[in-house]
Amino acid sequence: MIQHEIDVPLCVLTTMIGKRDAARVWQRSAQAVERLIELVNDLSISCSLERKRTLFLAGDQYGVRSLKKEVRARHKANIGAELLTSQTLLKRHGISRTAAIESAISASANPAQMTSGLLRHAARMGAEIVSGVEVKDVRSICDSVVVSTDAGAMISARHAIFCTGYEFLESLANKNHRVISTWALASRPRLPRPDWLDDYLVWEGSDPYLYFRATPDGRVIVGGEDESDEQAYKSEAKIVAKTKTLIEKVADIIGIEIGKPDFRWAAPFGTTPDGLPMIGSVPGMPGVFVTMGFGGNGITFSQIAAELVSSEIFDHRDPDWDLFPLH
Ligand SMILES: Cc1cc2nc3c(=O)[nH]c(=O)nc-3n(C[C@H](O)[C@H](O)[C@H](O)COP(=O)(O)OP(=O)(O)OC[C@H]3O[C@@H](n4cnc5c(N)ncnc54)[C@H](O)[C@@H]3O)c2cc1C
Repeated sequence: MIQHEIDVPLCVLTTMIGKRDAARVWQRSAQAVERLIELVNDLSISCSLERKRTLFLAGDQYGVRSLKKEVRARHKANIGAELLTSQTLLKRHGISRTAAIESAISASANPAQMTSGLLRHAARMGAEIVSGVEVKDVRSICDSVVVSTDAGAMISARHAIFCTGYEFLESLANKNHRVISTWALASRPRLPRPDWLDDYLVWEGSDPYLYFRATPDGRVIVGGEDESDEQAYKSEAKIVAKTKTLIEKVADIIGIEIGKPDFRWAAPFGTTPDGLPMIGSVPGMPGVFVTMGFGGNGITFSQIAAELVSSEIFDHRDPDWDLFPLH
């Protein structure tokens, strides 16, 4: 799911970082989705990229009043959103919930194909791609950055950018970065489903949240049920229980029968208290950049991180450079 609708609603983010910055974050996310779509199309990367609409359903965390407030906040920030009443939601989508927000500027893609397409392009442009080597340490020395690897090599460069997901070297760790657990599943292909679902990404504003979408071959991917325990994803018993819950929840909302899923996953991911990533220079280490805390919007935030860090390296400070600070 490639969404401008990040995990923390605009009206909630406003209470955390102020109206102006919250609007900037949401606008930047919308811009990042558009830019990524443009990039993938320009490079003709074959990854089942499709523009999608999003349906954000009222749930136990965000009810009708919150959704109304959210739509007002998005309109003030010039971000399109339509509030659907329970009647409209039932009529258009056959969903019985008290309200929903419908919006555009989202997409879906096969993430592995998209990533390998982008890496292939980088390689054609001269990047060397290395796998199976772990970076063990990093130091800034004079005008250089030196990293050491588990293969005993030392590599020096003008800059090093650590985009290592939820894993970090000790020297780059940040006290506001937390690792949590999440679960997901994919049904068999050609699953009977409502026609409209193929054009939408669906979220439920509940805690724990639920999300689902359809793939071009007719699978339904469902995920959510996050837990704050960073080890919980390792439990086989939890995978079984969470899979059952996800299947029941999606059946309750759109009445589909997933049956036995073809795939189930459990995974850790990194989050921050305000749901925003941290993108910036590492204090005391000139030339070293880090991106972390991508939460459930890693694709959108990666696009933003790529824009911010590359501008910084090329000495064109991006106006939003200060928007995702390392706290
Ligand atoms: C179940 C699940 C569903 C998700 N769904 C979505 C979604 O729908 N949309 C979305 O936008 N995001 C989603 N996310 C989040 C998204 O997957 C991540 O934010 C994204 O993959 C982060 O990308 P990355 O390249 O920064 O890190 P990663 O994809 O984690 O890659 C980091 C790489 O760095 C390597 N590495 C780490 N440390 C070192 C080291 N010291 N030396 C060398 N290599 C190292 C790792 O091995 C890894 O290969 C989801 C996450 C999960 C778990």
